Amino acid sequence: MAKTLNYRIFAQRNKFLIKMNLHEYQGKELLSSFGVRIQRGIVVQSAKEAVDAAKQLTAETGTGWHVIKAQVHAGGRGKGGGVKLAKNLNEVEEIAGKIIGMDLVTPQTSAEGKRVHQVLVAEDVYYPGKNEPQEYYMSVLLNRGTGRNMIVYSTEGGMDIETVAEETPELIHNEEIDASTGILPFQARRIAFNLGLSGTAFKEMTKFVTALYTAYVKSDASLFEINPVLKTSDDLIMAVDAKVTLDANALYRHRDLAQLRDLREENPIEVEAGALGLNYVDLEGNVGCMVNGAGLAMATMDLIKQAGGEPANFLDVGGTADAARVEAAFGIILKDPAVKAILINIFGGIVRCDRVAQGVIDAYKNMGNISVPIIVRLQGTNADIAKELIDNSGLDVMSATEFQEAADKVQAVLS
Ligand code: GDP
Ligand code: MN
Repeated sequence: MAKTLNYRIFAQRNKFLIKMNLHEYQGKELLSSFGVRIQRGIVVQSAKEAVDAAKQLTAETGTGWHVIKAQVHAGGRGKGGGVKLAKNLNEVEEIAGKIIGMDLVTPQTSAEGKRVHQVLVAEDVYYPGKNEPQEYYMSVLLNRGTGRNMIVYSTEGGMDIETVAEETPELIHNEEIDASTGILPFQARRIAFNLGLSGTAFKEMTKFVTALYTAYVKSDASLFEINPVLKTSDDLIMAVDAKVTLDANALYRHRDLAQLRDLREENPIEVEAGALGLNYVDLEGNVGCMVNGAGLAMATMDLIKQAGGEPANFLDVGGTADAARVEAAFGIILKDPAVKAILINIFGGIVRCDRVAQGVIDAYKNMGNISVPIIVRLQGTNADIAKELIDNSGLDVMSATEFQEAADKVQAVLS
């Protein structure tokens, strides 16, 4: 049980701390810079700018119709009314005006939705012609089982890939790439063939996947999902959507990409904690926790779970748990209204437990407004002195030395 919980927390932690998501327009610009053909567009912040953008696109591409696309970090925008076709400039203005400022609810957002600050005005690429436009699905990601990158693709584009996987798994293909060679020409051809392409579209697709895979590797991405990839009526292959997730640990060598981070799309408490140098991940539960070290933090969350609670957060305060840090951490934990109790679990290795205890007491007094019970477990150097300090502080803080004792006390305050 402990193991599965750790895994869940770890996955959640990865989501916030190890990956950086891009907006569709940023993802498309990245792809384009590697020679991947994209549906062209211009990002804007107002209805008026949308009209200017549409005029510019018409001048450059000849398109009369445009799609207006909400730029938020969530998929399924089309289903939520965040992607709309405009057939003239009046419609561009009207639709952009409606979408900018709305709280867009999609199958991938909360019920409150996500505030739309900007839209992408894009050329309409579903224009009629020689052939019917055709949508495909394509993603690039790491197969953890084999340790290789793979290209997952399907003829069933435009729809939810999870649904395709459930109903017609035989229509999902997968091409594994050897890191030492990169994507080979025969692999690109096999993909184009399996998608049923021939002639110009076949050649276009081999160029498309080759450039896409190169972009993935060169930008240190952890996920590209292009749904749909479009075959236009005149057999061009292009990315109509782009979900791009970058490996945040590699951003030090992509300064330009690091600039693309949009803090408005992230959890505000996590952003604030990050600025204070605290490793904090917001979770759904009711017991706040403050711990030093990521491993101990995960074990502590398991402890809370076993005591009948649910962790409200992951918080690693780092090595120096002095009064200022402890106070900052208290402040962050208490911003979450769901917190009913706080468990502090600190191992005094280099930092002495009595110092931490004094820090907790000082922070508690400075904050003045803490109304939830606090359980402090300090173990390590000078743990006995620390316990005495806590017990004699006269504050509503319970001390514990053993892991089980801390769990019992959490259980007691929750029931
Ligand atoms: P998502 O809903 O968040 O995945 O957003 P997408 O970028 O995938 O767009 C949703 C849908 O809008 C696509 O599957 C298309 O069917 C449609 N769409 C996108 N671009 C165009 C376009 O240029 N013309 C038309 N007619 N439809 C488009
Ligand atoms: Mn899409």
